[in-house]
Amino acid sequence: MINVTKTYLPDISKYMKYVKNIYDSGWITNNGALVRELERRLEEYLDVKHVVLISNGTLALQIAYKLLGLSGKVITTPFSFVATTSSLVWEGLEPVFSDIDAHTLNLNPEHIEEKVDEQVSAIVATHVFGNGCDVEAIDTIAKSHGLSVIYDAAHAFGVQYKGKSILKYGDLSVLSFHATKIFHTIEGGALIIEDDACYHRAKEMINFGIVSAEQITRLGINGKMNEFSAAMGLCILDEMDYILNKRKSAYNYYHQGLDGYVQYPTYNNHCNHNYCYFPIILESEEQVLKVMTALTDIQVAPRRYFYPSLNQLDYVKSQKMPISNDISKRILCLPFYSSLSKDTQDDIMKIIRKIK
Ligand SMILES: *Cc1c(COP(=O)(O)O)cnc(C)c1O
Repeated sequence: MINVTKTYLPDISKYMKYVKNIYDSGWITNNGALVRELERRLEEYLDVKHVVLISNGTLALQIAYKLLGLSGKVITTPFSFVATTSSLVWEGLEPVFSDIDAHTLNLNPEHIEEKVDEQVSAIVATHVFGNGCDVEAIDTIAKSHGLSVIYDAAHAFGVQYKGKSILKYGDLSVLSFHATKIFHTIEGGALIIEDDACYHRAKEMINFGIVSAEQITRLGINGKMNEFSAAMGLCILDEMDYILNKRKSAYNYYHQGLDGYVQYPTYNNHCNHNYCYFPIILESEEQVLKVMTALTDIQVAPRRYFYPSLNQLDYVKSQKMPISNDISKRILCLPFYSSLSKDTQDDIMKIIRKIK
């Protein structure tokens, strides 16, 4: 079966060298040497001030809400992975959806302001498919209403906006290092923090609020990453150029074969591409279902990312989001990963061109 993504695994002997060192040291978690090394290397690679590694991206979102003291309502996008919304509800916050732009698929800044009232404390926006949000417009709106801004940057590893890391925008950015993402630590995630005081609070908060053997300064939780995960990250970080080049070729090959047959999101021209997903937009849900059936017949499983639109979850207050509803019915993410063969891409593209 060809799935929408295939986890990248480094050479096993390289990983085993790290495992041997972990065994020799006997230190397998609790801010270990490899976690600290990966944090420093990611700060350099991503060109950000502070990286705090977390055990997964969803927990990183939840911790981000606590760190900034969010309360009441939060304006967010209906077009994202479910964790963007579920993490808010889990933390007792009420998602207020604001519709997306039909081209960028990101929050449309023009609609955000209508949603602001005195109970709204923050904006949680996703850089969907690694496509940078209009961070300047969002920043302006947030400042004028005193709102916090958190970016779900789970897809935005390595994305820059006007030549500087997009992860520096807003009060916090959150990354996911799940096995399906372009850079992964098996399970994992990170908080990207520019503010020093916030960074120190985060370090305490992810370790139960403990600051020393007999001192607990604040309410905390267990958000720590373990050494085996950090080792996986260190192995893969060395290989990012290779991974991105492979993805770039597969991306260009899809474009060669599909341009003129399908539509794509419009990417922010102030940002670089990180080649994390290959979404196509078809004319109707019927076409999507036809393509899905034809692909399943040749053992290919694309994914309806993101479907359903999150305003349709049964645990949120019903809200009308016509653009997100429409896009989520017509979008499909094609299999896309570094070891994807041209033959498989040819088979997939033949089917898509025929359905048109
Ligand atoms: C993957 C993902 C998450 C969740 O990250 P996990 O590490 O799997 O918990 C959150 N938001 C978006 C947009 C994602 O794609």
